[in-house]
Amino acid sequence: MFCYLSPLKKYMKYTCTIVLAAIALAPAVAYSCEFDQVTFDNDFAGASSDKMIASCQSNSQNKIEIVLKPENTPINNSPWYAFKLSSEEKKQVEVTIRVTDGDNRYPPKVSKDGQHWEGVEYVKDNEKLVFTVALSKQPIVIAAQEIITNQDYSEWVNRLAKSPVTSQSVIGESVQGRPINALEVRGNRQANEWLVILGRQHPPEITGALALFPFTENLLSDSSVAKSFRDRFNILIVPNLNPDGVQMGHWRHNVNGVDLNRDWNKFAQPEVRAVHEHINKLIQAGGKMVMAVDFHSTRRDIFYTMPNDYGMEQRYLVNNWLKAVDKQYKNFSVIQKPGNNPGRGVFKQYFADHYNVHAITYEMGDNTDRAFINDFAIDAANQLMKTMMMDNQELQP
Ligand SMILES: [Zn+2]
Repeated sequence: MFCYLSPLKKYMKYTCTIVLAAIALAPAVAYSCEFDQVTFDNDFAGASSDKMIASCQSNSQNKIEIVLKPENTPINNSPWYAFKLSSEEKKQVEVTIRVTDGDNRYPPKVSKDGQHWEGVEYVKDNEKLVFTVALSKQPIVIAAQEIITNQDYSEWVNRLAKSPVTSQSVIGESVQGRPINALEVRGNRQANEWLVILGRQHPPEITGALALFPFTENLLSDSSVAKSFRDRFNILIVPNLNPDGVQMGHWRHNVNGVDLNRDWNKFAQPEVRAVHEHINKLIQAGGKMVMAVDFHSTRRDIFYTMPNDYGMEQRYLVNNWLKAVDKQYKNFSVIQKPGNNPGRGVFKQYFADHYNVHAITYEMGDNTDRAFINDFAIDAANQLMKTMMMDNQELQP
C-alpha cells in the first residue's frame, strides 16, 4: 500500500500561537541508537524514551530501522514515536519503523523546528512503516503526530490566565511530581454551575489536543455568546492530565502503567484523584456540575455520549448540541455514539454517575485535517454555549 499525507502547513496558521518551542526542554534519560553516519537523538520532551525503544539497526549506511515498544502491556494500539536524526554529510536515508504490541498507526511527520510539521511520503508494508528523509547537520524531528509538550501547555495556560475572568491553579501532581495545571473561569461571582473541560489523558492523542485549544479559547472569547455564557456558567479547564506520559513519549498510560481513562472508578492514580478532589471542593463551595467535555483522538471523528434515557438532568442537552453542530455542516456528519459502561472507569461515565449530568468524549480522527479540527471546535463550542443557555423545555427530543 502506498500512501501520501498532505502537508500540514494549513494547520500552522492556527496553532503557531500554541505550539511553541517543543524541542529544547528538560532532558529525559538519553538513549542513543548507534548508527553509522546517522546521529539519533531522543533527548527531548515527548521523544520516545529509551524504555520505548526495543532495538535499532542499520542495514547499510543509508538505511536504518527502529523497533518501538510501549511503556507496558497490555495496551491500546497507539504507538507514539518521536526522535531526531542528523548526519554530518548531506544524504537521503531510508527509515523503517516497526512496533511491538501494535502496528504503525500514525503517518510520519517531519519538522525542522518542532513547530512546523509536514507529512512525508511513506509505504506501509505489514508492520513496517518505511519513508525517506533528507538529513544534514541540522537535526530534523520525526514524530507520529505534532509534538505538544508540557511546556506548551504551561505557556498556553499562562496566556489565557491573563484574562481578567480567568485564574490559574495547580490542582495536584502527577506520579513524578509534575503539576496538573487548571484554569478556572468565573465570569460572574454569583454563578455556581460548572462546565468541565479535560484533555490529554492519553499522550499521543494530539488531534484531541488541537481541538481543545480553539474550543476553550472560544469559550473565553469576547463574542456576545461567550460573554452571556460566562455570565451564567463557570468553567474548569484541565488541559493536560497526563504530563508524565506526555514528557516521556508514552503510548497511552501514566508512569504507573495505568490508563487514566479507566481509573475514574478507583481513583488510584494521583492525576485522576486531583480532578475528582478539585471538583468535590467546587461542589462543597456551592458549585454544581452541569456538563463535561473530554478531548481524545481515535481513527475517526466521533462523539461518545451518555444515552438520553440514562436518567440525567437535561436529558436532551448533548443530543441537541451535537445535532445543532451537525446542521452547520453539509459534508460532515457529527456521529454520536451513546454508551453506558458502569465500572469501566471512563471519565464521561464517572461524570454522569457522580453528578447526574451529561459528559462526552470528544474524539477527533488521527488524520483529520488540522484546519477542520480548528474550525469545527469553534463551531462546537459556540453551539454548546447556546445549547447550555437554553431552558430545559426548549431542548427537543
Ligand atoms: Zn483517548
